[in-house]
Amino acid sequence: MKNIIFIAPPASGKGTISQNLEENFGYVHLSTGDVLRGEVENGNQEIKNLIDNGHLVSDELIASIIEKKIGILKGKPFIIDGCPRTLNQAYMLSDVLEKSLVTDVIAIKLNLDMDIAMKRILGRRMCSCGKTYNIYYEEAAPKKSDICDSCGAFLYQRSDDTEEKVIIRFNEYKKNIDPIVKFYKEKNMLYEVDANRSINEVFDEFKGLIK
Ligand code: AMP
Repeated sequence: MKNIIFIAPPASGKGTISQNLEENFGYVHLSTGDVLRGEVENGNQEIKNLIDNGHLVSDELIASIIEKKIGILKGKPFIIDGCPRTLNQAYMLSDVLEKSLVTDVIAIKLNLDMDIAMKRILGRRMCSCGKTYNIYYEEAAPKKSDICDSCGAFLYQRSDDTEEKVIIRFNEYKKNIDPIVKFYKEKNMLYEVDANRSINEVFDEFKGLIK
């Protein structure tokens, strides 16, 4: 099974795809956004301000998160979701993977139109158990409004899932993406997937890519 680095705009489905890969293929999902939200829950105000305003945290902080996490993977296939977001992070990630003797890595770029991203983000509902739902898509909606199918807890919206923040996050992504794509293209690691399609169609394509 190949290890995956996601290069993807907000709401491209990377969280849902990762969930499917975990459940069906034993992948470990390493989301820098989830780690940072955990820090915010523990009271880190500086990170909260950056996330709430749609800005990026420092490359140094991301490097330390990745290093720690890669160290405890124990050979399981993994998905890095949310990093790299800058060219500097791409270099850093390459170094960490090399030092950890990780091979067989592919970078998957999910292509998504802004209007579809907006609909997905505004409909997104999260659960503290890790499941995510979308109230605008029948196949992804919870069975009972605002309640998690899996654990019964109340669902919530992310504080950065607002129209205004989506535009900032999308622009932040676009500003940094070209050199990162070039970096992985030159290393022959890059695959592109059309993420405007349904999650099932996208996932079918993934099954071919990860073998
Ligand atoms: P995500 O869950 O990947 O959408 O990330 C949520 C937020 O966490 C982003 O909008 C950034 O503020 C921050 N973040 C996550 N990953 C990174 C990263 N690799 N570099 C900088 N900031 C990040």
